[in-house]
Amino acid sequence: EHAKYQNINDIVYNLYPLMQADAFNNNKEVRLNLNETENILLDTNEIKQLILNIVRNGLEATHTGGSVTISTLQEPAKVVLVIRDDGPGIPLEIQKRVGTPFFTTKDTGTGLGLAISQSIAQRHNASFDFETGKNGTSFIIKFPKHVG
Ligand code: ADP
Ligand code: MG
Repeated sequence: EHAKYQNINDIVYNLYPLMQADAFNNNKEVRLNLNETENILLDTNEIKQLILNIVRNGLEATHTGGSVTISTLQEPAKVVLVIRDDGPGIPLEIQKRVGTPFFTTKDTGTGLGLAISQSIAQRHNASFDFETGKNGTSFIIKFPKHVG
């Protein structure tokens, strides 16, 4: 375990130049909407990996000129991370298969990004859900406050 008490916003800020470079190269944009949140126990490298996997999917899904927005917010007992893209959404028949290791709809995809992100969330005792529709997709990860 390499987890330490820290703020998820700091991890997002540290990743921002890398994500924005990815986006910019494809005429897309990463936007931040970070709100004050409590420090929680996070493994820095794992959370970077989780965020990057989802942001890259969002950038791949969205159209030229599109964007991915990373939001954080504090709920009473949880720190919430939402990564939203304005892509076309995940088709119904694909929805139940995303997160299955090696399931990909991309020519050169590994199909591992979401499976890895889900197991990282699980190791943090966080919930992992998505909401998707024709105006885009949001991945919602809720980290519980560590008790004890
Ligand atoms: P990969 O990106 O290598 O295909 P992932 O596990 O990251 O593997 O994603 C699995 C599949 O889920 C993708 O191939 C794609 O079909 C779908 N998917 C994931 N994220 C999105 C998204 N934001 N918008 C639309 N489809 C998505
Ligand atoms: Mg991926």
